[in-house]
Amino acid sequence: MHTSRSLTLARLPSGVPIRTTVHAYGEGELVDGDDGPELDAPGDAPVVYAQAAQHGREVNGAAVLRRLHDRLVGDAAEAGGGDGPTAADLAGTLVTVPVADPLTFDRVSYTTPESLDSRQPNMNRCWPGDAEGSLHERMAARLWAFASEADAIVDLHTGSPSMATHTVYMRGDEACRGLAEAFGTDLLLAEAAGDDADTEWDERGFAGKLRVAATREDIPTITPELAHSKEVVSAAVETGVRGMFGVLRREGLLDGDPDPWDGVVARNHLGRVIAEDSGLFVPEPDLAVGDRVTEGDRVGEVFDPTTFETLQVACADRDGIAYSVAREATVTAGATLVGVAERIDGE
Ligand SMILES: [Zn+2]
Repeated sequence: MHTSRSLTLARLPSGVPIRTTVHAYGEGELVDGDDGPELDAPGDAPVVYAQAAQHGREVNGAAVLRRLHDRLVGDAAEAGGGDGPTAADLAGTLVTVPVADPLTFDRVSYTTPESLDSRQPNMNRCWPGDAEGSLHERMAARLWAFASEADAIVDLHTGSPSMATHTVYMRGDEACRGLAEAFGTDLLLAEAAGDDADTEWDERGFAGKLRVAATREDIPTITPELAHSKEVVSAAVETGVRGMFGVLRREGLLDGDPDPWDGVVARNHLGRVIAEDSGLFVPEPDLAVGDRVTEGDRVGEVFDPTTFETLQVACADRDGIAYSVAREATVTAGATLVGVAERIDGE
């Protein structure tokens, strides 16, 4: 079974409602409640919640949920001619929101301007939201009503082509780690939180991420970062769909186990090779995102474009995985040239 409803997230100053669409597949259905649509699902069956495009330029997540929709209830599925499971096979309910933040989606942006939210331009810093707060806080609170009913959450994001596809989970949380393995990207990034995190986390408001807020409510949650913002890329979409089927298997909505995972785990955000001076950056020609690097490995050089003088031979500061490589050549002092995530496979 598939049901969908238009959902009003908040209201613009002009009175125009900010709306999005929520879908439900499987045993549960969306019904019309007093305060808008709500989920009516059997109490004993698992619920998975997936959303995309909190950051509106990260469009591949929305494309993932569309392709998943086609696989579950498309023409082939309806005719029984598809070769995979359909919505009728789901033992439980999948709830999806393809565009979580229409404000940033319409601007093809990461955040909103101050005129729309002077308190929190980044929707993914204000979970679980506040029904009487700013626009983003209200929008998050409205979606949290669905997310908080789930047994597992997938918050689909994408990075630039210069960032390796990976899945972020809360370090030390076994259930989140299992969900990340079920999603199946080769690289998993473990992100510390709370007392384990350094002060940067607090300063940057990371506690307000959907993933962190939900994990703290004991709902295992992951943030896949598929490659390519602003562009629908078939390979990224297929990675996301495969990941969603892995999650549905792990949570028991589909029969069978997720594919066994055999990848690399690293710590999020730790190592950065920084530009010591401003200039043009040329990465080593054979350096690609996802490559393993060893401390001291040359990753590129920064040169003065007017005198041709080499200003910096940039080297990896630790052993790890090059999870980002700057592809825009013009760099200012202090900019990240290469992000190196430190491997922690043993944990
Ligand atoms: Zn994002």
